[in-house]
Amino acid sequence: MAISNWYMKYWHFITLLLLFGCNRHDPFAFLEGPWDLHTSDNIELYVRPIDFTNSESPDSLQIDLILKNQNAFLDTINNWLNIESDSKFKIFLYNEDEALELIGTNTGGFVNGKRKSMYYTFLSKPVYHPRLDVFTYIGIHELVHLAASDVFGLPNNRMVNEGYAVAISDSYGAHIDQNGIIKRTQNRIWMERYVSEKKLLTPNELLYGNELPEKLYYPQAGTFINWLFSKFGVDRINKIYYTDYTNFERAFQEEFGIEFNSLETEYLKYCAEEFSVNKP
Ligand SMILES: [Zn+2]
Repeated sequence: MAISNWYMKYWHFITLLLLFGCNRHDPFAFLEGPWDLHTSDNIELYVRPIDFTNSESPDSLQIDLILKNQNAFLDTINNWLNIESDSKFKIFLYNEDEALELIGTNTGGFVNGKRKSMYYTFLSKPVYHPRLDVFTYIGIHELVHLAASDVFGLPNNRMVNEGYAVAISDSYGAHIDQNGIIKRTQNRIWMERYVSEKKLLTPNELLYGNELPEKLYYPQAGTFINWLFSKFGVDRINKIYYTDYTNFERAFQEEFGIEFNSLETEYLKYCAEEFSVNKP
């Protein structure tokens, strides 16, 4: 599969497809069974029975690994964000050959925070996740959306919503490395490219960049949120997670006593230094 096909398609895009696309008459037709349910701790995993379609359904070892990874990832997210999300989350795992029609992608998935549910494609080859140092069938990105909206409320702001998920996964998309291993592409790789191509987005462009392409936007939103975490501490950034982007600048000023725009010089300088490919 071409490298570019591995870029994940995320929730807002897919939600639009579901709302306005082929499922217009019954927006939840994609939930139709049969499903086999496997539960462990916080995760309820719904998978297709063996031989349900021509593509593979996950076997029992793969199911065990998915449950183990997702529960461990929830701990990672809680520790990272200093929160205590302890809800039950549902994961519906579609076989590869049915996923595009039912959930609008066959390389990733999306979440519905209100339903505490994730809809995701099962690919029989796991992907190596450098930050988490595991091979995994489902990454951590979508679970960040679920855990964060579980604790803070449903998000209203692309920069924060995607920024949190990409900051914690420290990656966007995937590539095949020189050993033939499918590997998540770390933010650093994207950022070095955007610094050298002079495509850095300012905090202001990130805040109002609802229309910017994912590939340009996601790694930079993740990097910026990560920078905010280091600068102000995660607890204080959590306080403005829920803020609608139209009220964000005011909320930021109230919480931090400085204008959001005033971060621009320092942040761009950080990126230029941190992600310069000519760094000594
Ligand atoms: Zn996302």
